[in-house]
Amino acid sequence: MKVITQFQEPFLQPVNEPLLEDRGISLWIRREDLIHQEISGNKWWKLSLNLQHIIGLDPVPTLLTFGGAYSNHLYATAAACSELGIECIGIVRGEIQQPLNPTLAFATEKGMKLVPVTRSAYRDKELLIQQFEKDFSGLYVLPEGGTNELAVRSCIQMVNGRMQKMDIICVPVGTGGTMAGIVAGMESNGSVLGFSALKGNFLTEEVDQWLQKVFPDESFTNWTITSDYHHGGYGKITDELIGFIEQFYIRHGILLDPVYTGKMMFGIYDMIRRDMIPAGSSICAIHTGGLQGWNGVRERYGIDPISF
Ligand SMILES: *Cc1c(COP(=O)(O)O)cnc(C)c1O
Repeated sequence: MKVITQFQEPFLQPVNEPLLEDRGISLWIRREDLIHQEISGNKWWKLSLNLQHIIGLDPVPTLLTFGGAYSNHLYATAAACSELGIECIGIVRGEIQQPLNPTLAFATEKGMKLVPVTRSAYRDKELLIQQFEKDFSGLYVLPEGGTNELAVRSCIQMVNGRMQKMDIICVPVGTGGTMAGIVAGMESNGSVLGFSALKGNFLTEEVDQWLQKVFPDESFTNWTITSDYHHGGYGKITDELIGFIEQFYIRHGILLDPVYTGKMMFGIYDMIRRDMIPAGSSICAIHTGGLQGWNGVRERYGIDPISF
């Protein structure tokens, strides 16, 4: 089952805090960030069934996928393909700057062939795929962010029996694939609360569509997404967010990423403070990894967590 190596089964780490004690809330963090040095968190899970499928094909196809210049998905895919000896191509949104940023330098070192395309060309993925299909006989296309049906199915496995007993599972949301798998994995136990990393409300629709597509015979009502904690939009940061991540790190020794898990945890604390989460609840927040995302914040804003 596990074609990509895994160093450590994700475990639940308790977080203790006066804010939580006052309300009788227990908070656990599922440490998906520690499962693999290079293929962390939900990207490990999303890739696992896809890569298992690919290496079973004869001949093994070339993997084609998409991402931004600091994409966690490109980073993880390059590492996983290198481990398994799969050829891969990463179509990168926008110009590629030289020297390569740390994310793209890593992907290149791992053997991913990077192809920059303009932002407008990047929007028309179908056309790009057609162009590549002309040049490559066997291609396996993995959508942006790695979300497809196999990825959603893989994410069911992120939920174990202990998590099904929690009142609330919290997860950051990008494309919604991970959340859809977790909602299905909870089997109507507890509720799943997603924190959108993007501005706007459209992710509820995305998760809903994935659930209908992958599990057409089931209906799930135990989930919601809040879009109140995007901090200006995807990849955007605020001083308040960075201050929170720094404080959280100092108090608990757990580093959150600035694109997804930092925004989720900020939101969880804010909702607890506002009594939007019932007293006495048990919460499991999923640390979906993505710490290489600091590369973007380091380069764009000069903020580096090693100075925390
Ligand atoms: C990609 C990513 C997400 C979002 O996952 P989706 O399945 O696209 O919703 C969340 N957290 C981290 C750290 C990620 O890298």
